Amino acid sequence: MTDNAFEVHDPLILKNARQVLDACQSGAEMRQAVLDAVQRNETWRGQQCVNLLAPEAPTSPTVRALLSSEIGTRAAEGNIGSVQRWFAGTKYIDEVEALCVELLKQAFRCRYADHRLMGSMLGNMAAYHALAQPGDVIMTVAQPYGGHSSNRYDGPAGFRGLKIVDVPWDAHEMAVDIDLFRKMAPLVKPRLVTLGLSMTLFPQPVREIKEVVQEWGGKVFFDGAHQAGLIAGGQFQDPLQEGADLLTGSAGKTFGGPQSGMIMWNDPELTVPITQAIFPVLAATHQVNRVAALAVAAAEMIAFGKEFMAQIVRNSQALAAALDRRGIAVLGKHKGYTTTHQVIADVKTMGGGLDAAHLLARANLITNKNLLPNDQPADWDRPSGLRMGTIEVTRLGMKEPQMEQIADFIGKVLIDKQPPESILEDVIEFRQPYQALYYCFENGLPG
Ligand SMILES: *Cc1c(COP(=O)(O)O)cnc(C)c1O
Repeated sequence: MTDNAFEVHDPLILKNARQVLDACQSGAEMRQAVLDAVQRNETWRGQQCVNLLAPEAPTSPTVRALLSSEIGTRAAEGNIGSVQRWFAGTKYIDEVEALCVELLKQAFRCRYADHRLMGSMLGNMAAYHALAQPGDVIMTVAQPYGGHSSNRYDGPAGFRGLKIVDVPWDAHEMAVDIDLFRKMAPLVKPRLVTLGLSMTLFPQPVREIKEVVQEWGGKVFFDGAHQAGLIAGGQFQDPLQEGADLLTGSAGKTFGGPQSGMIMWNDPELTVPITQAIFPVLAATHQVNRVAALAVAAAEMIAFGKEFMAQIVRNSQALAAALDRRGIAVLGKHKGYTTTHQVIADVKTMGGGLDAAHLLARANLITNKNLLPNDQPADWDRPSGLRMGTIEVTRLGMKEPQMEQIADFIGKVLIDKQPPESILEDVIEFRQPYQALYYCFENGLPG
């Protein structure tokens, strides 16, 4: 096979894959090549790394096992119930899906929920399909302030043909500038205001925004992809309670479940538009193994969410303070650094977020580059910030003293400029005792 003239993917990595496959003598060897790569990741990321990616969570043994369960091979499209389905034979699938819906309602203390979204991206698509028409004006948060592409021109919002006006932002407070919003919003009368933040440190004025936009019938959509677990665990603002019309979440972020979308609302008038946007627009067979795993994750959240999320927040505050003490600039200091799972550092003077993240990865410390308020959206490839999250380290049973040790490792690389390889063995050794997961029915709370 020849090299393709143009690939969106790294051509070198694709070429390596072709070479691996070309060297195989049989399909069985090709199969083994795939299994080996998966195993390498499991050993490295699963056992030897300190994973500080904010949008990532390890799942309990039961949730992981359910992802390979028999039910995942079954086709089930449509709404729950024998008449609404296309296929016969779904009586137990209906049971599982109904349990999932009711568990989501309990976890989020809301009247309606849907379980069929394969990711939160589809939740955003459903929201823009159900609550807006092409050409409508909406207001969403710009990327350097933490906004996510799904709510901008390059994501579902743009794809739906919406006109996007920026939500005014106070970069120092890391929150909506509500005074400016009160002046600006009536000028454009947005059909929808979306609060969708991938960089999220503090609560937002949901109630105040709703009060402003309801004058012209505008709605509020809280894209809680990152905060869903914190919301369910009662450790963050409760957007639906504060007047948001719609809440979405990624189950694979703070919620600690399978990678999956969730969508919740209270207004019965939204049920038809939202569910019709999901089926038949965005989901047909919707992976019932994922639904079963999501249901168990919701039960775990109901049982352990409060303690799990409270420790996540304590850990991120401890990590932020410890990094700050070592000379790394952490955002939000005057407000206690963070009220979520996230810690945001400004590493512009240390070569920027891309270089910092790759340096740290050589020491098995996994983080990601992030745009900061002073960056331009076009700086996405080499932004100033570094984003860290405490979901995984918390679920592995780590507490505040371990955050101090992690900050030590990060400081050695970014401040003392030690070669990452010089601390690699120490990081692996530090991670070694933390192999079991807590805040789940198998292992309960950490000691
Ligand atoms: C991660 C994220 C999404 C996309 O979620 P997936 O579950 O990965 O599809 C949407 N919105 C925001 C704000 C996010 O951070």
